[in-house]
Amino acid sequence: MTKTNPVIIVIEDDPAIRRFLRTGLSTQGFTVFEADTGKQGIIETGVRKPDLVILDLGLPDIDGVEVIKSIREWSAIPILILSARSSEQHKIDALDAGADDYLTKPFGFGELLARIRVALRHANRSLDFMQSEVFITANLTVDLQNRRVSIDDQDIHLTPIQYRLLAILVKNAGKVLTHQQILKEVWGPSYQENAHYLRIYMSQLRQKLEVDPTQPKFLLTESGVGYRLKV
Ligand code: CA
Repeated sequence: MTKTNPVIIVIEDDPAIRRFLRTGLSTQGFTVFEADTGKQGIIETGVRKPDLVILDLGLPDIDGVEVIKSIREWSAIPILILSARSSEQHKIDALDAGADDYLTKPFGFGELLARIRVALRHANRSLDFMQSEVFITANLTVDLQNRRVSIDDQDIHLTPIQYRLLAILVKNAGKVLTHQQILKEVWGPSYQENAHYLRIYMSQLRQKLEVDPTQPKFLLTESGVGYRLKV
C-alpha cells in the first residue's frame, strides 16, 4: 500500500448520494473523484488508476453491468456495487460480470466502510499472495504451490474436488463468488446448474476445516448468491 490516501472513484448519477459519499469518505482519509455517467466513470477509472470503484447500476447512459465488464477488460481493481436493485439476480449478474461486492440502497455508512476495508485488504493480500503463493487466515494455511492444506500446522487431507473448491475460494479470498462462477471453475461450464454439488462439497470442506461446521468462521455463505472466504 502506498503512503498516499487511497483513491476511490464514485460512479453515481444521484448528486445527493455523491455528495454524501464524497463528504463521508473524505473525512475517512480517502481521496474521492466522481463521475455521473457510466462512460465518464470508465474514463476516470482509466485516468486516475484508483484503489477502488464504487458503482451504481442504474446510470443514465449505459448500464452499470456494462461498466463492470468494460473495466474488467483491463483492470482487476475492486469494484463495489451500490445499487437500489436488490434482487438476487441483479446481484448475481453484477458479481458474475466481475464486481467484488454488492451493497443495497439504502445503506449504512459504517457497513460501506467495512466493505471498502475488506475490498482494499483483499486487493493488497492478492498482491502478497501472488508473491508468496501461501494463504493464511486464522488457523488455516493453504499452500497452493505445494497443494498443502493445514489447520494449526496439522495437515488436512482433501479430495481433488474439495481441494479445487478451496483453491478457487483462496484465489478470490474476500470476494463474493456466485454459485455459477464456482461450479464453472471447479466442475466445468456444463455444470453451472448443478448447485447441489456445490452444497455437498462445501459442507464436506466445512466438516474438515471449520471448528463448528454449522457456524462457519471463514467459509461463509452469501445467502442466495454464493460463497466468500473470509480474509
Ligand atoms: Ca442511479
